[in-house]
Amino acid sequence: MKHQPKSSTNQLPAKPKRYRSLAAAAALAVVIPFSAATPVLADANFPSTEGNTNISSILTYDDVVKELRKLGKTSRFGVDAFTLEEAGTQVNKSEQGRDLWVATVGNGAEHVWIQGRIHGNEPYGTDSILTLLKDLGTNGSSDYQLLRDKFTFHFIPMYNPDGAEANIRHTILWDQANGLPEFGANGREQRIDLNRDWTPNGFVANESLAFYEYWTDVKPAYGIDIHHQGLKKEWGTGDDVTLSLGISLAPGGPTLPGIKDGAYDELTRQMHVYVYDELSKYGSINMDRYQVGNGQEIDIKGGVVSAMMLGLDYQGMNPEGHSNPVVFFETSGNTSDGSLGQKARGKSIKQNLLAMKELLLGLATGEVQQEDADRWEEIPHQPVTGYNTDYAGTIPVP
Ligand SMILES: [Zn+2]
Repeated sequence: MKHQPKSSTNQLPAKPKRYRSLAAAAALAVVIPFSAATPVLADANFPSTEGNTNISSILTYDDVVKELRKLGKTSRFGVDAFTLEEAGTQVNKSEQGRDLWVATVGNGAEHVWIQGRIHGNEPYGTDSILTLLKDLGTNGSSDYQLLRDKFTFHFIPMYNPDGAEANIRHTILWDQANGLPEFGANGREQRIDLNRDWTPNGFVANESLAFYEYWTDVKPAYGIDIHHQGLKKEWGTGDDVTLSLGISLAPGGPTLPGIKDGAYDELTRQMHVYVYDELSKYGSINMDRYQVGNGQEIDIKGGVVSAMMLGLDYQGMNPEGHSNPVVFFETSGNTSDGSLGQKARGKSIKQNLLAMKELLLGLATGEVQQEDADRWEEIPHQPVTGYNTDYAGTIPVP
């Protein structure tokens, strides 16, 4: 789907501004970072623990806009780069007023949603997505032709531009008239984790409603979400993990098996098994399953990609209850921990790129859908003790 003006019949509710203070306080109270259980390690060699993280090579918002405009002009295969304002969503800027950018490529019937840097201090989703966008826009090989024929891609290289510019995880609620943070009841600035804000009582930050409306337009068939975690060792072996494969509603957990008669519980595991097999061929990549620590699986409903799988209908904007399966990738190394390193930058971006490309090819050829989902158990992980939720605390394994 190319972007086009919204039909006039699709009127959206106004942003629930008055709920902000309460909702923001609630959101802050339940923040469970993806990197909550980051192990503290002294001798990991991937990405690098030598010296401080140098963020000078991390892409800025202006870099991203410039690259998107360039790809939109120069790509052989029709990259369309545009803002959500141009796409016609009712809310269409970040809290601080930055344009929110999307780029599409491909002509396939099935739409694919690929987002990065919803956490502003997790940078390489941006680099990986821009690289894949460029490849899809310029590469004439049969792999990329298949992907363009099968899918229409919607790339969001920088979901959280304000957080990215500040090198922080969250976005800060902003009073644009005064050019200052919108202070909460406690007199402090209000930081919102955009990956906990797609809930019936959420949508506190502008970015959330803007991208949610766009998602209800696109109705993707699949999604991919790219994050970073801290440095991590494989359970049992102690080897450095470079990439963790995540599903934000745990397979076999309290929520996912009940969606679509278990279809996503099976397909997300098949997606992981396929990526694990394909990327295991590369010696520089060591994968495991994403877990939040102490053997707990993540099972959050307010994460963007969880809400997609749940088919969240916020204020009547998704009346058919569209839903789609999504997996996320966590590259090791994080700017805030000072563990990102520079030597591993190329490897980190490359592994995300390979993971996305192989997964998409596997979905396009149907090989993913033929995987044995039960082999998900073979991907290294700590024995599961419980589910770490954003709705019921920790739920132990029965
Ligand atoms: Zn993250």
